[in-house]
Parts: sequence; C-alpha cells; structure tokens
Amino acid sequence: MDTLTHPRRIERLITGQATRDGAGVKLTRVLTQDLQQRLDPFLMLDNFASDDPNDYGAGFPDHPHRGFETVTYMIAGRMRHQDSAGNEGLLQNGGVQWMTAGRGLIHSEMPEQEDGVMEGFQLWLNLRGADKMCAPGYRDIQSAEIPEVTTEQGVLARVIAGHSHGTAGAVQRAHTEPVYLDLRWPAATAVFEQPLPQAHNAFIYVYRGSVEVIDGEGTAAAVPLHRMAILANEGDGVRLRASAQAQAILIAGQPLREPIAQYGPFVMNTREQLMQAVDDFRSGRLGH
Ligand code: FE
Repeated sequence: MDTLTHPRRIERLITGQATRDGAGVKLTRVLTQDLQQRLDPFLMLDNFASDDPNDYGAGFPDHPHRGFETVTYMIAGRMRHQDSAGNEGLLQNGGVQWMTAGRGLIHSEMPEQEDGVMEGFQLWLNLRGADKMCAPGYRDIQSAEIPEVTTEQGVLARVIAGHSHGTAGAVQRAHTEPVYLDLRWPAATAVFEQPLPQAHNAFIYVYRGSVEVIDGEGTAAAVPLHRMAILANEGDGVRLRASAQAQAILIAGQPLREPIAQYGPFVMNTREQLMQAVDDFRSGRLGH
C-alpha cells in the first residue's frame, strides 16, 4: 500500500443534471458538454437508475452515431440493442457493450423488461480525427468476462478497460488509453490506489455510499453519493478510501487535444464534417 507519493486532489465536485433522452428515458447527465474540454477524451456520462418502468420508457429507438465510441455498463436490468449492420445483442446485469460508431451506424437500445430496477451508465469516448471514419463495430462483454481483481485491503475492482493491480481489463484502446474501473469496497474501511499518468484526465462517480479522496498531505475530501469528482492532474495517481456499501466508477484517459465539434449524436472535428454527417444521415448514406 501507499505506493503513490503525491496522489491527486479533487479539483471540482459536479452534480449531474436530470434530463430525459431517447423515447423519454429519465437519466442524470453527469458529464455535460461544458466539461468535454476538461475531461477530453470523454464526451458524456449518463447515469440511469430507476425501479419505475415509466422512467425508462420506450428506451432509445433507432438513432445514428458518428465519430466516437459508446460504452454502456449495466449494473442491473437488461437492454437489447440492434444496429444497421445487422448486429443484435442483449446487455445484462454487470455486462458492457463497447460500440465504436466510426463512420456511422443506426441503432436502438431498448429495455427488455417491464418492471424491476434498471441501472447503469453510458460513457461516450472520443475517437481521434484519423479514426472517426473507421468501420463501425461493437463488442458485448458479458459480466463473467470482465476481469476482476481484489486488492490486499479487500477492494474489488472490475476492470472494464485499461489495467489495475496487474490485471488487464476487457478492453484496451490505443490513443485514448482509457481506464474504466468499477470499485466496490468491503465491510471494513479500505484504501484503493490507482496510479495515473499526470497528463491523463480522470474523474470518479459514486453510485453507492460515499468515497473519500486522500491527497498527498493525507487530507480527506468526501465525494458524496451521486456526485462526480474531477481529479486535478497534478500527482501520480489517486488514493480512495471508503467502507461497506461504497461503489464508484473511476475513469481516466489520455486527452486527444483536437477540436471537438458536436451536433447531437455526431462528434467530429469541424463544422463541415458535422454538416456532412447530417447530410449523410438525411440521405440514408449513414450506416449503409
Ligand atoms: Fe446510442
């Protein structure tokens, strides 16, 4: 333990914005458009959590994407997805869908249950300009295929992307080098450390209990339930402390430092490329 010499501090705590998207799905947008530069290469993070079917409504019927990747992580519930390339999959409890929109596809993401809890996250990860028009693809990663590691102090890390404590995650990506961990604390108070390159932007989001970020002086700053903490870049990693009932996701990545142009479900580098995306979609060329 204590492998870090100067862990990062909290730069800013963020409260998400309640909104609806798709066909009326109630969700909290945690990473909003005004944070895209600060949290480059991440473009959006939504948290959906409800046991009321009226909140997850009719899901996300057919809609396009171009220029980035979507990472959907289900904590509870089931979502069926279908896309214009003929792919279909069922995302279930603890599973991840990693979808690379590339030059474009049209897909639907529909809850496949009429009652019960639906809870999860959708993260948008940018592609560098050179990759934005790549062939689309996706991977369904079932819960059992997500590598897990339990630290000496008993913290369980589900390693969705990147590496943690010697364990390689389910997904590795060049250029953005994302780390995506789901952290679950044991009954006793325990510390979890993750080294992070200083250039990489990082944040945590707490979805059970609360978590403390411990800085180099040993000062603890709390991240309450349903808050995102943007971590300052200075430092050699992050030191988190919590106890039973605490669960949080830790996300970090290498910034692309390119212009970000977004129009709804299209994220490109320039306005011209966005107009092209809209034109391709309207004329039926996107995803076909
Ligand atoms: Fe989508």
